[in-house]
Amino acid sequence: EDLFAPTWTGQVVVDLDAIAANTALLVERAAPAAVMAVVKADAYGHGLVPAARAALAGGATWLGVAQLAEALALRAAGVTAPVLCWLWAPGQDVASAVAAGINLSASSQQAVEILADAARATGRPVRLHLEVETGMGRGGAAPQDWPGAVRAALVARAEGLADLVGAWSHLARSDEPADPCTTRQRGAFTEALAVAEGLGATFSLRHLANSAALLTAPETHFDLVRPGIAVYGLSPGPEVGTSELLGLRPAMSVRTRLALVKDVGAGQGVSYGHTYTTDRPTRLGLVPLGYADGVPRAASGVGPVVVAGGRTTVAGRVCMDQFVVDLGGLPGADRAAAGDLVELFGDGALGGPTAEDWAHACGTIGYEVLARMSARLPRRYT
Ligand code: PLP
Repeated sequence: EDLFAPTWTGQVVVDLDAIAANTALLVERAAPAAVMAVVKADAYGHGLVPAARAALAGGATWLGVAQLAEALALRAAGVTAPVLCWLWAPGQDVASAVAAGINLSASSQQAVEILADAARATGRPVRLHLEVETGMGRGGAAPQDWPGAVRAALVARAEGLADLVGAWSHLARSDEPADPCTTRQRGAFTEALAVAEGLGATFSLRHLANSAALLTAPETHFDLVRPGIAVYGLSPGPEVGTSELLGLRPAMSVRTRLALVKDVGAGQGVSYGHTYTTDRPTRLGLVPLGYADGVPRAASGVGPVVVAGGRTTVAGRVCMDQFVVDLGGLPGADRAAAGDLVELFGDGALGGPTAEDWAHACGTIGYEVLARMSARLPRRYT
C-alpha cells in the first residue's frame, strides 16, 4: 500500500463517499427543505471542488461559500449548481461573480446598490440574497436598516438589475440546543420577513439553519438549510451529539510516516524548551508534520497519535515542520522504523483519534482542526 508519492511528507486523505453519505443523511433530515452544502475554506480543508462534487452527488442542490474567489473557482472547475457567496467588501470585483451567475448576499442598502451597479455593468441581473441581523451580531442588516436594504432591492428588481432570490440569517448558539437564543432568532427572522412582505418583497428561499439547527431544530429549516461541518462528518459540538450518534462519518484523515527512529537515554530533553524529558532509556520517533502543516502548536504534549501499533501523544513542543513521539511502551516499539505509518486523526472507526479528539486535546473546535490543515499537505481522495 503506497499512500505516498515520493516527494510527499504527509497527506490529508479525504473519503468522498463519506461526504456523499453524510450529505444524503442531511438531505433526508432536511426534507422538504433543500440543502446548500457549505464548501467555504477549501471545503473545511477537504478540497473545494472534489468535496463540492461529492456533496452534490449526495443530494445537495446548492453550494455555499464565503469568498468571491471560492465561488469563481467552482465555476472555473465546471460546477454549474447554484452557488451563494456571502462575504465581500466594497472595492472587490463583484461584477465577475454577477457575470458568472453567482448568487450574492447583501446586508445593507449600499451593498444592494453596489451589486445593482455591477449588474448594470455586466448586463445581467444579480441573484440577490438579503441578509438580516437576528442576533448573531455579525453580518446582516440591523432592524433599522432592513427596510432600506429591502427597498433598494425592490428598486433594483424594478430596473431589471436584481432577482430577489433569498432572505437569510445565521444562528449564534444553535450548538446549544437548550438555549433560547435560536427560538429568539427564529422569531426575529420571521418578523423581518413580514416587514419585507409589507414592503412588497417576497423571497422563495428563506434560510437560517446551519448543521446544528438542521439536526436539532426543524422549525428553523424554512426552504433551505446550510450545513457545513456535518457534511464533513463532524458534530457541530458536544451538546448536539457525537458524530457516531448522529450517523455521520468523519471524511478527513491525516497521515504521515516516521522520518527517523532513534534510541535515547533517560533524561533526554525533547524539542524546544524541553517541556518533555525521557524518564528512562527509550525510543523516539520523528513525525515530519508541524504547525506550518496545520498541526496546532497547542497539541504540544497532548495531541493524540497512532503509531507503532498503539496510541500516544505528542512528546514536547510541536515545531514548524515536525514533532516527536516517545515510542517506548507501544506494542510495536521494538520493530518501529523510519517509514512506519503515523495517523494523527481519522474516522475513529477502529478506535483511533478523530478531529474531535484533537480539538478537545488542543482546546479548540473540530472546525478549526479541519480548516487549518495547510496547502502544504496534498489531498488524496478515496
Ligand atoms: N452558513 C454560514 C453563513 C456560515 O458562515 C457557516 C459556517 O460557519 C455555515 C452556514 C455552516 O455552519 P456549520 O458548519 O456549523 O454547519
